Amino acid sequence: MAPKPIETKAMLHDLPTPEPESPFARSRKPYRFSTLCATVDNPDMKDQYGSSSVPIYQSATFKGVGNEYDYSRSGNPTRSHLQHHIAKISSAAHAFTVSSGMAALDVILRLLKPGDEVIAGDDLYGGTNRLLSYIRKHVGVVVHHVDTTNPENLHSCIHPTKTAMVLLESPTNPLLKIVDLATISKDVKEIAPGALIVVDNTMMSPYLQRPLEHGADIVYDSATKYLSGHHDLMAGVVTCNREDIAKQIAFTINAVGNALTPIDSFLLLRGIKTLALRMDRQESTAQHVAEYLWNLGFHVNYPGLPDHPQRDVHLRIADGNGAVLSFETGNKELSERIVAATRLWGISVSFGAVNSLISMPCVMSHASIDAATRAARGLPEDLIRLCVGIEDPQDLQSDLEHALIEAGAIELNAAQNKYVRVPDPDALSRAVHDLDLDSGKQELEWLVSAPGKVILFGEHAVVHGVTAIAASVDLRCYGLTSPRTDTKISVHFTDIDNFYHEWDIPSLPWDSVTPVPVGGEHPEELDQRLIDALTSTTLAELGEEKKAASAASLAFLYLYMILAKGDRRPALNFTARSTLPVGAGLGSSASFSTCGAAAMLLVHRRISIPPSPPSTVTHTHHEGRRAIPHDIAEEANRWAFIAEKILHGNPSGVDNSVSVFGGALGYTRAGFGRDGGMEGIQGFKSLKFLLTNSKVPRDTKKLVAGVGEKKANEPELVNGILKSIQGISDEARRALADPELPRDALISALNTLIKENHDYLVTLGVSHPALETIRETTKTPFGLYTKLTGAGGGGCAVTLIPDDFKDGDLQALIDELIRQGFQPYLTSVGGSGLGILSPFPEHRTPGSDSHHSRQDAGQFTPPETPNPEIAEGYEKQSGEFNPLRPSFEDAVTTDLPQWAASLGRWLYV
Ligand code: PLP
Repeated sequence: MAPKPIETKAMLHDLPTPEPESPFARSRKPYRFSTLCATVDNPDMKDQYGSSSVPIYQSATFKGVGNEYDYSRSGNPTRSHLQHHIAKISSAAHAFTVSSGMAALDVILRLLKPGDEVIAGDDLYGGTNRLLSYIRKHVGVVVHHVDTTNPENLHSCIHPTKTAMVLLESPTNPLLKIVDLATISKDVKEIAPGALIVVDNTMMSPYLQRPLEHGADIVYDSATKYLSGHHDLMAGVVTCNREDIAKQIAFTINAVGNALTPIDSFLLLRGIKTLALRMDRQESTAQHVAEYLWNLGFHVNYPGLPDHPQRDVHLRIADGNGAVLSFETGNKELSERIVAATRLWGISVSFGAVNSLISMPCVMSHASIDAATRAARGLPEDLIRLCVGIEDPQDLQSDLEHALIEAGAIELNAAQNKYVRVPDPDALSRAVHDLDLDSGKQELEWLVSAPGKVILFGEHAVVHGVTAIAASVDLRCYGLTSPRTDTKISVHFTDIDNFYHEWDIPSLPWDSVTPVPVGGEHPEELDQRLIDALTSTTLAELGEEKKAASAASLAFLYLYMILAKGDRRPALNFTARSTLPVGAGLGSSASFSTCGAAAMLLVHRRISIPPSPPSTVTHTHHEGRRAIPHDIAEEANRWAFIAEKILHGNPSGVDNSVSVFGGALGYTRAGFGRDGGMEGIQGFKSLKFLLTNSKVPRDTKKLVAGVGEKKANEPELVNGILKSIQGISDEARRALADPELPRDALISALNTLIKENHDYLVTLGVSHPALETIRETTKTPFGLYTKLTGAGGGGCAVTLIPDDFKDGDLQALIDELIRQGFQPYLTSVGGSGLGILSPFPEHRTPGSDSHHSRQDAGQFTPPETPNPEIAEGYEKQSGEFNPLRPSFEDAVTTDLPQWAASLGRWLYV
C-alpha cells in the first residue's frame, strides 16, 4: 500500500482542545506545545463526572459484549487517553504505549520478515544493538551498521527491494552526533520506496524533535526518560501516521501483551503535562554547564556549542539541544575521580528525569559493547556524560566545580583569579604516541603470527558427533603488511611457489562490495557477489595451475575490501611465510587466515592495541603473553573464520579458534541430539610432540565419505568404535586438565589413549602404509607411541615425546625418519595463539627492525629476491622508517621464530 502523505504539524496540532465556553465565536489559533502538554482532553471520551485528572481504570476486564473495552490487554480507557495525548504532541495520527522503550522497538522490529535488510546507525543505544543482533541471528534479518552522520554512507547499503527498515537515532548518546533525518529519509525513499524510516527520539522527546515531520514513518521513545520525567516508571511510545503500520502495531501489542498498564499510563500522562516546562529548564541549565566546561578547555559534546560539527543540521531538524552532554578529561582515572567526587549529580545510568545524573558510559551504560568496538566507534574511555535535571543551575555548577577541584582537574590560578585546567602530565606523551602511530607509514606495517594445530584425539569420529581434542603447535604462519608508495595492493606467498602478484587498488571490483561497518558482524553467508566479481575479473588471469595461490589471494582481497572503511584504501603488500608444512593437515590455512584477518583488522584500524602501562614495558617476549584483550581476539577469530570459509567452504571453526586462542580445546559438532560447541581445556600443560609428515597427499573428503559408508554398512561395529573414541576424548580431556595428575602419569595415560585411538582409526580404514611405517619406526626401538592425525590416508602422524626422552635418541629417530623420506618436525603443543609484534617504539629492540641494521652488521649485498617484480613498490627508506619487509622475506624459514623474537616485544592472546 502506498504511504499516506504526511500531514502537516499545524493540522495535527489543531486536534480538538477544550474551548472556553463563550457565546462569541472567535477564530482560534492552534495551541502551542506547552499548552498542548498541559491540556489533556479527548472529546470522544468525556468523563462522566467531569474529573480534572484522567482516572486510573485499574481493571483487567470490562463488562458487556461488543463494547469499546472488554480486556485491558487490548484496550484500557486510561491508556486510550494517554495515547490520544501523545499523538497530539507528536504530530502523529496514531500513538501506542508499551511497557518500555525496548518493548517499543520490539513491536516495531516485528514488522520485519526473514531476509529483510535493515540499515542501522553504528552508534546506537546498546540495548538496540542487542535486540538487532538477536533478530539477525534468530529471524534471519540482515543488519548493516553504518556511520549515519554522513547520509552518503548509507547509499551503498540501500537495496530497492531488500531494504525494509532504516533505524536512526539523533543526537546519538553519549557522543551527541547528529544524523540528518530529513536527508536520509528522502534518499532512502528514492531508492527503496517500501523501506520504513524508524527513529528513536528518546534524546529529544516530541517537544524538541518530531521526526514524523521530516519523513520518518515510525518514531519511538523510551518514555522512561523525558516523557515521564521522574524515573518512576518504565514505558515506551510508538507513533506513526500510516494506517497500515498502525494496524500491524496494534495487532502485535495485543498479540504479545506488552501494552502499558493503567497505573503507569496514568503516571506517564501526569508526567507529560510538565514536559515542556521541565525541558526548558533542563536545556537552559545544560547549555550553561556545557559552556562552563567548554570555557575551562574541556572537549565538550553538545549541539548547543558553536563548535559542534553538525550544529547546522541539528538546528534544521530540532527545536532545541536537549539536556544530555558529554565531555572528555583526557584521562580515565581523572574522570573516575570527578564522577566519584560529585554529590548533587547522582551516579546512575539513564537520563531525562528531574534529577541530574553523571556517568562514565564506557564503564556503565556502554560497558556491554566490547572495548575494541568502543574504540573503533571513537568512544573515549575517559568520557563523562552529564544528564541535566531541574535543580538550581548554580548548585549544579558549583557541585561540578567542587568535584573538578577535588579530583585535581582544575585549580585556582592566583594571577587570573579564576579556576583553570591542571595540565595532564601524560597528555604530551600520549599525543606523541598517537602521532607516532598515526604517522602514515608505520601504521601500515604490522607483523603478526599464528599457530597451526594438531588433532590429538577424535578425528573422523568428530564428524559423527564425538568430541575431538585439538591443540596449537609451535609451528606458525607469519604475516607482514608493509606500506607501498604507489596505488597497488600486492601479495607474496613464499610457501606457495613463491607466488607474488599485485593489483591496482582502484581497479578492484569496489562496486560489488558491501562493507561491514565497524563493530558489525559478517553475515552468515559469504558475499557471493564479491567472490564472483573477484574470481571473474581480478583473479581470472591467474589460471588453473595457480589454484592454491588464487584461493589465498581471494581470501586476502575479500578481507581487504570488505573491511575497508569508506574511501580509505591503503596501498600495501602482504607477505605470508610459514614454518608449518602446507596442506599436511596441521591447520596451515587457518593460521594463514588468522594472520590475514588480524593484519587487515589492524591496517583498517578496526582493532587497536591498547598501550600497556609503562611499568610492564619489557623486551622479553614471554612477558607479553595474554596482552591482547579477549574481545580483540574474538574479532580476529570471527574474521579468520570467514577467510577459512573462503578457503574451505565449510570449516568447523576448530582450526581458526585454536590458531587465535592457542592452548587446547574440545570440539563437538552440533546435532546428534546435542548443542555442540567448543570448550577450552583450562590448565593444559604444554607437551612435546614429533609431527611427521608422510608427504603422502590425501583426499579428506573421500576418507570422510569412506567412514560414512562403513557406518552405513556395519553400524554396530562403527557405532561401538565411535562410543569408544568418545571415551578416549573424555579421558584425555580429564587428564590434560587435571592439576593433580603427576607428569609421568599424564604421559603414560596419553600413550595408552594414543594407541587405542590409532587402532580404532585403522579399523575405520583411514590409515596408510606410510603412517604405519612411521608408527613402527617410533615404536621399535624408541618405545614411543604414535597415531595418525587429521584425515589420515597420508598426511601427518603425531608421536608423544616424554620429557625424559634423551636428546641423542631423539636425533637418531629424526635422522631415521628423514632417511625413510619423511619430514619430521619437533614441536611443543598447547602454546600461545595469535601474536602481534608490539607497535610501540619502546617495545622494539633498537636497530633490530631496520634493513640498515643488517648492513651495519656486515651484510652489504642487498638480499636477492627471486622475482625482481617483488621489490617494486617497496617503501623507499625515508626518515626514521626502516621497513621490516626486506629482512622478513630474506630470513631462512627455520630462523623465522628467532628473527621475529629478536624484533622486540610480542603481544599474545
Ligand atoms: N533508546 C534510547 C536512546 C535509550 O537511551 C534507552 C534507554 O536507556 C532506550 C531506547 C530503551 O528504553 P527502556 O530502558 O525504556 O527500555
